[in-house]
Amino acid sequence: MSLTGFVRFLRQSLQRLESDFIQAVGLDRSLGPALAVNGPSLLPQPNNSSEPSFLDSIFWMAVPKKRRTIEVNRCRRRNPNKMIKVKTNIEPCVQCGNLKLKHTLCGFCYEKIQKETSLIRRQIQNMEGRPLNTPAVETVVLFENETPGEADQGKRIVERSRKRPSWFNL
Ligand SMILES: [Zn+2]
Repeated sequence: MSLTGFVRFLRQSLQRLESDFIQAVGLDRSLGPALAVNGPSLLPQPNNSSEPSFLDSIFWMAVPKKRRTIEVNRCRRRNPNKMIKVKTNIEPCVQCGNLKLKHTLCGFCYEKIQKETSLIRRQIQNMEGRPLNTPAVETVVLFENETPGEADQGKRIVERSRKRPSWFNL
């Protein structure tokens, strides 16, 4: 680079620096973009005294002052009073073999009977249409290969198209 070229480069750099400085300071409004806009005269001023602080929204709780050792924690957690008691009143169901509590109904057998009963109820509804048509007599449910006996005379008979299950003896 020659000397005249270096001088020209230096002059251009200085001019650019000067124009940048003038724009940054804001003396020359014709070159820089207008940054100020007309706003409302009463701008909302932040009022620090009445505004709720961020710390006010925190729910402060008590914290332990000292760390408890793992032995102490385990003694508390594994206390015999906190353990689940071993049940000794469990026995298998006589009908289905599932485990159940003594002196209570078996849940599995109860569900089976509930399903069969709901099917019988649906069949009665199909037979009679609506509840007001129900005759005021006793109802007998007969399964396949069953005939009404002498005691069933005059009773309402519901016939099911399946073999009588062993657990349905009503
Ligand atoms: Zn059972």
